[in-house]
Amino acid sequence: MSPSPRIKGWCPGAWRPMATGDGLLVRVRPPLGELSREQVGALCDAAETFGSGLIELTSRANLQLRGVTDESWPRLMALLVEHQLVSDDPEAERQPQMMLAPAWQKGDDTHTIARLLQARGSELAPMPGKVGMAIDAGNALVLGDSAADFRIERSTKGSLLVRADGYALGTAVSDTEAAVEQLVRLTHWFVDSGGWDAGRMRRHAAPLPDWAPADTAPASPGEKLALGKHNEGVVVGLPFGRVAAETLREAVSQTSIRTVQVTPWRRLLLKDCDTLPAVDGLIRHNSDPRLAMDACPGAPFCEQASVATQPLAEKLSGWVEGTVHISGCAKGCARQRSAALCISGRDGRFDVIISGRADSTPVKSGLTESEALDVIKKLSESS
Ligand code: SF4
Repeated sequence: MSPSPRIKGWCPGAWRPMATGDGLLVRVRPPLGELSREQVGALCDAAETFGSGLIELTSRANLQLRGVTDESWPRLMALLVEHQLVSDDPEAERQPQMMLAPAWQKGDDTHTIARLLQARGSELAPMPGKVGMAIDAGNALVLGDSAADFRIERSTKGSLLVRADGYALGTAVSDTEAAVEQLVRLTHWFVDSGGWDAGRMRRHAAPLPDWAPADTAPASPGEKLALGKHNEGVVVGLPFGRVAAETLREAVSQTSIRTVQVTPWRRLLLKDCDTLPAVDGLIRHNSDPRLAMDACPGAPFCEQASVATQPLAEKLSGWVEGTVHISGCAKGCARQRSAALCISGRDGRFDVIISGRADSTPVKSGLTESEALDVIKKLSESS
């Protein structure tokens, strides 16, 4: 079988990988956002045997392998299916992405809702590829900044609610089953009211139906997982969302973990262990400046990029206070919001942007890497 289709701009998956600057990008959605120790090992083997050896963690808590070829893709898929990292049914991947609030525990509402939704996955309306759902049913909301079109959350009064993206308030529901029923119904309303044209719920102009009143406030936002010890294990960060397979394998081998939960924050929760693995290539401290930096893959990994981003990001680490964004082009995939400092690639050179996005007007443009570093050094010295 050949990987197909590979349409640029398509939301890629494992069965529908995307052609990028360094080969095929294969995106894996770990079931319920969790991998067993054995699955982590299989993913590392897959990255090294069939890809570039790097594993990426995305802002939607997916895992990505890069550098896969047309020839190696079928064997990669066989391995991923064998280890239940990917369903053997390509149609299952067309169901909307489901993101769980990290640190969920077996039997809590987040886990229960996710299992119910899994069981009813075929009842969801077929929706555009980027549409996703967030199950964020802990006492505080932690996925509010993460992209999702439909959310199941806790209300200020402790009940559950279902909220459509773009609305500050949601609809209260009586229990987990009612939440799932409401969400399934909302997906059909979305499609029937023209959601395919809008593409995302946030852009969908149709008013919500009478049976989905937006009248219940969600709970207050909570903190994302801090690095270090956690009730469930330990939390480590991945520099710019990337880790070498050998680094991850070594981290697992040093600890007693049974499972790993992914997060949308470039962090992994290593469950059932109490020691931070002492491995280079992971972020272990909350003071690490790379946590405030965003960098997309850049060249040679992305076809749109004319500059390498991550080496520059490493060089700039700790230079500048506040948020830093290094982007391979004006699209700004790694960060859509403004950053205190943004460096954006264009035609093999760099533009320097202050308090802006990758497509904002630069204060200096057309710089080589060393010229860009000089400009940033002077700016940071004068501030
Ligand atoms: S910002 Fe540009 S270079 Fe970076 S990943 Fe997105 S499209 Fe590629």
